[in-house]
Amino acid sequence: MVKDAEKVDPRSAGRAAEAGRRGHFGDLKALVFSELQAQLRELEEPLYRAGQITDWLYKKRVDTIDKMTDLPRSLRKRLSETFSLGKIDLVRVLGARDTTRKFLFRLADRKLIESVLIPASLALYGGRSDRRTICVSTQVGCAYGCKFCASGLEGFSRNLSANEIVDQVIAVERETGEKIDNVVFMGMGEPLANLQNVLRAIRIINAEWGLGIGARHITISTSGLAQQIRKLAEEPLQIRLAVSLHGATDEVRNRIMPINRRYNLEALLSACDYYKAHKKQRLTFEYILIADVNDSDEQARLLSCHAHRLSAKVNLIPYNIVSGLPWAKPSEDRQEKFLSILRAKGIPATLRREKGHEIDAACGQLRLQTEREAIAGG
Ligand code: SAH
Ligand code: SF4
Repeated sequence: MVKDAEKVDPRSAGRAAEAGRRGHFGDLKALVFSELQAQLRELEEPLYRAGQITDWLYKKRVDTIDKMTDLPRSLRKRLSETFSLGKIDLVRVLGARDTTRKFLFRLADRKLIESVLIPASLALYGGRSDRRTICVSTQVGCAYGCKFCASGLEGFSRNLSANEIVDQVIAVERETGEKIDNVVFMGMGEPLANLQNVLRAIRIINAEWGLGIGARHITISTSGLAQQIRKLAEEPLQIRLAVSLHGATDEVRNRIMPINRRYNLEALLSACDYYKAHKKQRLTFEYILIADVNDSDEQARLLSCHAHRLSAKVNLIPYNIVSGLPWAKPSEDRQEKFLSILRAKGIPATLRREKGHEIDAACGQLRLQTEREAIAGG
């Protein structure tokens, strides 16, 4: 039986089979179970092989098809001829075991991405306090150019494939020997601009035959792609959605988030209404506090109206300084005042107060720094 989480567009399975016939399919770790079965049918192999293959990929986690030793040698050969089995190379780790750690990866085309592992006590997005959260990237760079963000500084390079997303979780678990409980799509890139690959990766991360992480422990964050929020609302997966609001008026959002000129605040909020009508999970508004930009009492009051309209939670995040950018975080007093206005209006709100966030800074910063060092070093 194919569960909801595994449903894929039947046309894509057809395309997959077609590509398979032509001898090039793509990566084995980008297939959901039903597609793998379709491929095996094409190869006139018994369907139970699909379970053996996913066990090798996601439970035993081998790095070559040849290591799948309970498959006949002839099948291993045909799989190797049809599929790639890519990997991402860890090039740098920053941070100690009990703090936030950053992992910089080099992809097959030498581009760099990063993932962040947030320890138990800092897990904010739907996680219990004893849980570990990984923040994964979905694109190399970002095309949305928010004025405060390191990821957009060097522009957009390309989308990540589903297997490059899944491999971040596998590689960080392998490197640390720790089991990851929550996945948040808050690394480099805009997940909803790479929706197909992100959804494919989520199906693999969520499935029992895959990484087995519950949908409620998976969060997508978006800067406000209203149309894609509506599409996501129609997906059966019960994942969580976080919306990066960062401003409670068009004036503020226009100043720091160019996406707001395409989908203004009302367009975004009405897409959120639509999402809410389709989903059981509460929305979260993320709100970076930037000194003298979006941290006034008035913004807090308007933010609480929007949160009330959507029964949303609010996560306040003091701005992480990005070198070369002019923004700063507000004083602690200002942060607390902003929080207290939301709470007084009955909005469930949290403020990230933990210290030691120097290295986690915002996603995108480690890559940028490494690339600049490489350039400086010739
Ligand atoms: N593109 C998506 C997801 C990746 S960004 C989005 O924008 O939501 C993940 C979160 O990190 C977003 O809320 C983003 O606004 C925030 N962020 C980016 N730069 C930051 C910084 N310098 N300090 C704090 N948060 C930052
Ligand atoms: Fe892209 Fe998100 Fe950064 Fe904006 S905040 S530039 S959408 S990664």
